[in-house]
Amino acid sequence: PMDEIKGDIEFKNVWFSYDNENWILKDVSFKISPGQSVAFVGETGSGKTTIISLISGFYKIQKGEILIDGFNLNHLNLRDLRKNISVVLQDVFLFSGTIKSNITLGNPIDERTLSEAIQYSCCDSVIDSFPNGMEEPVMERGATLSAGQRQLISFARAIAHNPRIFILDEATANIDTNTEKLIQKAIENTVKNRTTLIIAHRLSTIKNADNIIVLKNGTIIEMGNHSKL
Ligand code: ATP
Repeated sequence: PMDEIKGDIEFKNVWFSYDNENWILKDVSFKISPGQSVAFVGETGSGKTTIISLISGFYKIQKGEILIDGFNLNHLNLRDLRKNISVVLQDVFLFSGTIKSNITLGNPIDERTLSEAIQYSCCDSVIDSFPNGMEEPVMERGATLSAGQRQLISFARAIAHNPRIFILDEATANIDTNTEKLIQKAIENTVKNRTTLIIAHRLSTIKNADNIIVLKNGTIIEMGNHSKL
């Protein structure tokens, strides 16, 4: 039973290939304690996205072990696991509906949780800029919103669902300075008290992480905090 997880994540000598021919991850090992944040950095194709995809159980690894709270991922109920994980990707997925429905995803989230999520995600600035507030219609894919606004909504979504594990692929898109500051604050608030894995593109995010993992060609070449590296 895994309704409540602590959010302890361990990769033990993980080898992974998408095609059973080319190793994409080669003997990757790391451990994240509950509530800790880890920033993954490394050049394009080094395996960062692959690592975060494996945690949600999207692929099976060939060798090694991925442990969540000490349990092998292969033996976990993935539906239960995914209930405990919120993922914010670079290209945030919004669907047609309202800002509110994009935050709640139709789940029964009480008003207080919702308003806290909006506050902590700095999404209130987005909501206040629309005449209909939270009921503002959202077009398919969120076409009428800026990339920064879409990300703030996705942080509100993550916080409202209170996951034990938060996964973020930080946006590289052009985002104005003010929204950038809001996103930075939103990241800080979302990361608090939950296990976080970030594919980091900003120095500020890297500096704030408890641990930094540097990847190259599917192997970890450096690991440590900002002052150590
Ligand atoms: P980026 O910074 O560009 O996002 P990344 O570090 O996240 O790169 P990955 O996306 O994990 O790197 O890709 C690692 C390697 O795996 C690359 O060589 C890529 O071509 C390959 N790869 C990624 N996804 C797939 C897939 N679904 N099928 C086959 N190969 C893949």
